[in-house]
Amino acid sequence: MSNLVFVATCDLAGKVRGKAFPVDDLDRRLARGVGWTPTNVQINCFDGIADSPFGSLGDLLLVPDAATRMRAEFGDNVEDWFLGDILTLEGNPWEFCTRSLLKSALERLKTVADVTLLAAFEQEFQVRGKPTIVGDAFGRTGFEAERPLCEELIRQIAAAGFAPDSIMKEYGPNQYEIVIGPEKGVRAADAAVMVRELARSSGRHVGTDVTFAPILDPASVGNGVHIHMSFLDANDNPVTYDAERSGGMSRLTEAFAGGVLKYLDGILAMTAPSVVSYLRLTPHRWSAAYNNLGFRDREASLRICPVTSKDPTAIERQFNLEYRAADAAACPHLALAAIVHAGVQGIEEGLDAPITEEDLSLLSPETLAARDFVRLPESLEQALQRMDANETVKNWFPATFLPVYLAHKESEITHLANMTDLERCAAYACTY
Ligand code: GLU
Ligand code: MG
Repeated sequence: MSNLVFVATCDLAGKVRGKAFPVDDLDRRLARGVGWTPTNVQINCFDGIADSPFGSLGDLLLVPDAATRMRAEFGDNVEDWFLGDILTLEGNPWEFCTRSLLKSALERLKTVADVTLLAAFEQEFQVRGKPTIVGDAFGRTGFEAERPLCEELIRQIAAAGFAPDSIMKEYGPNQYEIVIGPEKGVRAADAAVMVRELARSSGRHVGTDVTFAPILDPASVGNGVHIHMSFLDANDNPVTYDAERSGGMSRLTEAFAGGVLKYLDGILAMTAPSVVSYLRLTPHRWSAAYNNLGFRDREASLRICPVTSKDPTAIERQFNLEYRAADAAACPHLALAAIVHAGVQGIEEGLDAPITEEDLSLLSPETLAARDFVRLPESLEQALQRMDANETVKNWFPATFLPVYLAHKESEITHLANMTDLERCAAYACTY
């Protein structure tokens, strides 16, 4: 039974927040939304409130998008909710609505290249508060230990209309990974949010506490969010692959990749936005440490993924690039907006994207610089500085956006200032 419907936004903190209303009011709420407060955007992931240009003033509407309805049944408990857009009282997208920011990035991609993005999020998480099963990387024992969670999550994902791909016990201690199939445009980011929420809800239902925090232990592996991307033309034909070109990338794909590489250090603060994200983004953790495009290389920020078919038509559909420098402290909509803008910028600039098949951490700073590789920012502060210093990145967003984002993240940094790395990890483990 459920008489209440929840409408949510995934905000700058990557948190899913909103309000509930009686289901009988659904028609009215689909048209008019619920009231929302501008300063909410400055609530950080630890419940602190960053400097806000809005103070106590102003009003907004959070309007459910009818296409996003999620009715997840957990026994008698039904979680009925929508994702929505934040609009001004005049009905325009609000500058800090992450879903609207993604929509405008996707429109730019459409205008510049006449293609639609297909994206699939692969998300890692860890189970908390249970004994660690040792020696069980990708193990069957670890999988069976959490089979109730895995079964429930996959069932919920399918019931929600998404395509479950696979679920596994990952390499790290009590670490799992959930993969779903690609979705078009904004729905791909909606799906990423919903999968996280379904994992948390499934966990509550079966008695397992899960966390998507970027890393739990500085000495161990992190939880990545890997974003697989490909392109469809106006007739829904794949245009990502070209057998004749380097790495199999079409000209469009290579230019998009070139843009992501060129602007990667400027967007990282939006795709890996926590203080501990930078403990994960270090060499030899299979995450990302340089702005390189690797051919089937799991240490690269951007990876050309393998295809498993011999049939040329199937290869064209399967071929995709994977962005690996993201984690679940990031709002999927904001992360994807930043990546798409960087890619479109690359298309506009006609960039190339050299492919690497080597360990860049072995190269000297001079060699790296000569080959146009940069070590990615090594702290959130550094990533924010690079973002703030990059006029091109700034211009992709409304003029008001970056100062607010910076203040938001600075409040998070301040909250953690006097903690050790391990304490910081523990703080994020509770909040994501
Ligand atoms: N755990 C790794 C990360 O932090 C990814 C491992 C893999 O699936 O390749 O991104
Ligand atoms: Mg993985």
